[in-house]
Amino acid sequence: MIYFDNSATTQILPEVLDTYMKTSQRFIGNPSSLHRLGEQAGLLLQKSREQLAALLDVAPSEIFFTSGATEGNNWVIKGTAAAKRPFGNHIIISSIEHPSVSETVNQLAEQGFDVTRVPVDATGHVQPEDLQPLIREETILVSVMAVNNEVGSVQPIRAISECLAAYPNIHFHVDSVQAVGKVPVTDWLTDRVDFATFSAHKFHGPKGTGFVFWRQGRKIAPLLAGGGQENNQRSGTENVAGIVSMAKAFRLALTDSEQKTAHIRAVKDYLMASLASFDKVRIFSEHSDTSAPHILCFGLKGIRGEVLVHAFEQKEIYLSTTSACSSKKKVKSSTLLAMGVPESERTTGVRLSLDETNTLMEAEQFMIVFKQLYQQFSQINS
Ligand code: PLP
Repeated sequence: MIYFDNSATTQILPEVLDTYMKTSQRFIGNPSSLHRLGEQAGLLLQKSREQLAALLDVAPSEIFFTSGATEGNNWVIKGTAAAKRPFGNHIIISSIEHPSVSETVNQLAEQGFDVTRVPVDATGHVQPEDLQPLIREETILVSVMAVNNEVGSVQPIRAISECLAAYPNIHFHVDSVQAVGKVPVTDWLTDRVDFATFSAHKFHGPKGTGFVFWRQGRKIAPLLAGGGQENNQRSGTENVAGIVSMAKAFRLALTDSEQKTAHIRAVKDYLMASLASFDKVRIFSEHSDTSAPHILCFGLKGIRGEVLVHAFEQKEIYLSTTSACSSKKKVKSSTLLAMGVPESERTTGVRLSLDETNTLMEAEQFMIVFKQLYQQFSQINS
């Protein structure tokens, strides 16, 4: 089996699973309970909060646990809209955000918010000079992801932060899901970022766990009301084992990340160069430092992405169309659309997403299968 779908989800690491199991078995209390078992679970949560905060160089009180990035993105956006409505109703997002951002602002638009989408260039990057003129007095939120999940474009978060420095009242949110362990944290968690959202299953942690970095002094409304957990901001009994093992997975993801990304980039470079040598292949990801090391999006002319995905599946090679979320809904890639890719090519998009466990040998096996499929499809199309 070759697994090239790590942007959809990653496999939980054995040592992370071990932590999950042991924590579940040994710490059975509800952190809100008054007795000793509750207190022990609560202390573990606090320790995990401190570990995550230390790795991000922020305060533990700025970390809030969630069920994942879809919840985190909904919370930051809807929470900002609710808290800042008296000051304005204008929201800016990039035109290539994940549906957990773009669909959330669509809901807000139905409630009277004014949403502007900042365009991207042909390589899938927001240009800060395009963002600046869109800012208005009523703008309350700017949301731009750190790394695009479909083509891997790394967004210029530092430059956007500089552009937003003159507007301290605007919340700046960065969906950081695809950046963890792949792009240095200092590149996207700048002093100007107010909110950043994370999901454990994208960095070898458990599914259904995530967290939000929420800069002190900013105000958003809670998304979930109830028992008042997470400092009254996010109710619901905390997933203690998930959180403890997420903190471990996050530490492991950031350990030796330079070495790991150099390896991943070498595998991606090999795949990119090999695929580019075929006439009917179009590469949608950029070959540069502003493209994440782990995501490679390409298309084979005249062949729908899902056809290629299923053909590879027959050989136990797992890929996805441009993103796992949209592939089942049969929506065409919004990122490729925003990049100006013609309609006929947008349907061909296939995404390979790598991690440090993938090898050059797997990439070579992938290319052997690709060559066979290329010949088969060329015969059918000729
Ligand atoms: N944001 C980005 C960029 C993603 O790639 C994903 C998942 O694919 C999400 C948000 C949603 O994360 P979760 O699966 O934790 O809800």
